[in-house]
Amino acid sequence: MDCADIIQLLSDYHDGALDEMLAGPVRTHLVLCLECGVIFNDLTLIVTQAVVLREGQGIALPDENVIWQRIGIIRRAPSRP
Ligand SMILES: [Zn+2]
Repeated sequence: MDCADIIQLLSDYHDGALDEMLAGPVRTHLVLCLECGVIFNDLTLIVTQAVVLREGQGIALPDENVIWQRIGIIRRAPSRP
């Protein structure tokens, strides 16, 4: 299997949906190939963050009204020399 094959299987591998005949080569490739390993780590991070956000434990988003107030203050402020 080459990198393109591995990338096609990464999501299923992450979800544990591959049988061992496919999971084994993917696991080995991820140990040996830095690029695919990085992609797999990114996928894991994205999935983890999505779960956190879905469960409502995500980062606190700033209040949109406060942001627009700040923008208005900045736009009205006199320019500095
Ligand atoms: Zn690779």
